[in-house]
This record gives sequence, C-alpha cells and structure tokens, in this order.
Amino acid sequence: MLTFEVRTRDREQFVEITEQVRKALESARVRSGSVLVYVPHTTAGVTINENADPDVIHDMLLTLGRLVPKDAAGYRHTEGNSDSHVKASMMGSSCRVIVHEGRLVLGTWQGIYLCEFDGPRTRSVHVQFQRNDE
Ligand code: ZN
Repeated sequence: MLTFEVRTRDREQFVEITEQVRKALESARVRSGSVLVYVPHTTAGVTINENADPDVIHDMLLTLGRLVPKDAAGYRHTEGNSDSHVKASMMGSSCRVIVHEGRLVLGTWQGIYLCEFDGPRTRSVHVQFQRNDE
C-alpha cells in the first residue's frame, strides 16, 4: 500500500489526484491489473469525473449542496457536519481503475478526485495495486 496526503483549502472542494495515482503506479511498476484508491475518512470521498471543464465540478458541488443542505431540520449529529457525512457516502470512499500496459485506463476526460466535504483539512489517500498474472 502507498499513501499520499492532500491538503484541501475549502470546506467543499474536489481535488484532482490522478497524477499522484499515476506516480504511485510508476513506482509500483504494475503492468496489468488494477488500482484501488481509498480514503480513510467519513467526510471525504473519491470519485471519477470530468477534468477538462472545471464547471462540471462546480455544478456537482452545487447539486450536492441542493440535495443535502448544510443546515436541514432534523439533523442530530452534534458536530454540525451531517451534510458532509451524507455527501461523502454519496461519492463513496474508494474507486478502482484498471491498469493496462502500465497505464491507468481512464477516458480522455476522466480524472480521479478526492472529494472534500468538511475542509480545510489534510487528507490521506491510500493506493493499493492488484497485479494480474503477467
Ligand atoms: Zn461528524
């Protein structure tokens, strides 16, 4: 397992981590298999989405905020970050990407994102490679 850290600067922010995962792949020297990208957090997640037009990330955060308001009647969790927990579970705590011929198999417009929902904080990202018989 490899781990790297990401420092976020806003309460809610998507930080692209594709390059960090690519570097981890290079150092692991996996040719064929897959990579699991996992965050050990309850108010941050991981997702894959468009990295070409930054407005896509803007619109995703806008939509998540509409679906899960920060202050909604009935929340009980006393930390005041219930929305952060819900959004983190909506994104999920991991994603898996196929590795083929030593490269991440991502579409032209796809990037891997750490999804911060209760920042700013320093987040850990764990990366683990699964190697196929080569
Ligand atoms: Zn909490």
